[in-house]
Amino acid sequence: MPPAMRIIAPAVIVAVAGGLSCATASESRTQGQPGNGPVDQLRASILGHSRAADWVRDLTDQVGPRLSGSPGDPKAVAWAVATMNSLGYTNVHAEKVMVPRWERGAEEAAVVSPVHQRLILTALGDSVPTPPQGIEADVVEVPTLEALDAMSEQQVHGKIVFFNKPTARLRTGEGYGKAVDVRGGGAVHAAKKGAVAVVIRSIATSNTRLPHTGAMNYADGVEKIPGAALAVPDAELLHRLLERGQPVRITLTLGCRTLPDAESANVIGDVVGRERPEEVVLLGAHLDSWDLGTGAIDDGAGVGAVLEAGRQIAAMNPHPRRTVRVVLFANEEHGLNGAFAYAKAHEAELGRHVVATEIDSGTGQVYAMSYLAGPDAAGAMATVAEPLLALGISPPQSAPHNGADLIPLRKAGVPVVSLQQDALSYFDYHHSADDTFDKVEPEKLAQVAAAAAVFASGAADATADFGRVPESMRESKGH
Ligand SMILES: [Zn+2]
Repeated sequence: MPPAMRIIAPAVIVAVAGGLSCATASESRTQGQPGNGPVDQLRASILGHSRAADWVRDLTDQVGPRLSGSPGDPKAVAWAVATMNSLGYTNVHAEKVMVPRWERGAEEAAVVSPVHQRLILTALGDSVPTPPQGIEADVVEVPTLEALDAMSEQQVHGKIVFFNKPTARLRTGEGYGKAVDVRGGGAVHAAKKGAVAVVIRSIATSNTRLPHTGAMNYADGVEKIPGAALAVPDAELLHRLLERGQPVRITLTLGCRTLPDAESANVIGDVVGRERPEEVVLLGAHLDSWDLGTGAIDDGAGVGAVLEAGRQIAAMNPHPRRTVRVVLFANEEHGLNGAFAYAKAHEAELGRHVVATEIDSGTGQVYAMSYLAGPDAAGAMATVAEPLLALGISPPQSAPHNGADLIPLRKAGVPVVSLQQDALSYFDYHHSADDTFDKVEPEKLAQVAAAAAVFASGAADATADFGRVPESMRESKGH
């Protein structure tokens, strides 16, 4: 990363970006300067004294990988309960969630014709294994699901389908959303044409020789075929070999397996509101991770940011009017079990969930905010977002929302907010062995924690509310 893009010192954010604020944000603020009201103090306290990265370090070093149902999963739950208790939260508890348990085994692949080359790949989450002796077959390359659908069964039958769909590097992270359909749906589309396995170019912007895993799906009535992701350089090798026009044959062995569901938990802690404790502003992140790295940016960073936000809100005297609830969700990565279990367990209270947001895009700074709320929410959102200008965050815009752990809340009509983080480098590491603590940038994560805290405390103190998401906008394409 070029030095100019590195960390903006917290003091600079306050001093420079503070000039963007208007005087109405805080009674004690003078024009052009951040004031000394409670929100200003909260923001300055987090920027100056954030411990968000410390919580990420503890989680990733002391617990490590925490794929749902793996030995790291209950350790992470115990860690989260103990940490919340030590940070000043109240009502700290774990709510049981049953989660899938899938284990990666040995994984090997190679080009065997027309040349011999080892291929670096990793099984996609929830994949079935290959037979122990592996699968050997010719490869057919396609760029998209649509291109595969347009092929004849004869072109695909008995082959390994190779999806070569690059991920664009964009600050918004939208390159991932555009590429990821081949990971989720590739095996089903390929099996319908008689393919024996799928390999995909990793859904990643990295050019390291590390493959990026992620969840794949099967469909009832369609044969389950194995799925794996090639490291980007290996996908490019396969592409170059196929480009020569000769048949390319590969072998693939995956030893992964699915075990009976296991017990995990959502971990919940509150900062109880001083006037309306029954009304909730929810701040979420997910506690689980993939198994290849230690889940530092996905989603240790989110866990660290929301824990720090809650810790610093808990230290406010007085507390905001409504309750700020931090929820660390179980198994976001392959099933959203924690998100759905929370919505079910708290169904009776969802009408009193005023707004929800989650942090799940790594360690990059928040640069924008969007929301999906009631039709008359624009004024209330603008008021709550106003102190975010001093963190360099542009004014809020109404937009569709796809935050995974908030899907069940959105379906129930709870307004949802995205604090959009710079995702330029996020997909270099995400879901790979490179997702480790050294990638966390503490000063940037402090800004994320400050944004989460300023938003949550402001929403908890707001006099107006945000309405409910209209029925017609509660569903979203792809969910
Ligand atoms: Zn995540």
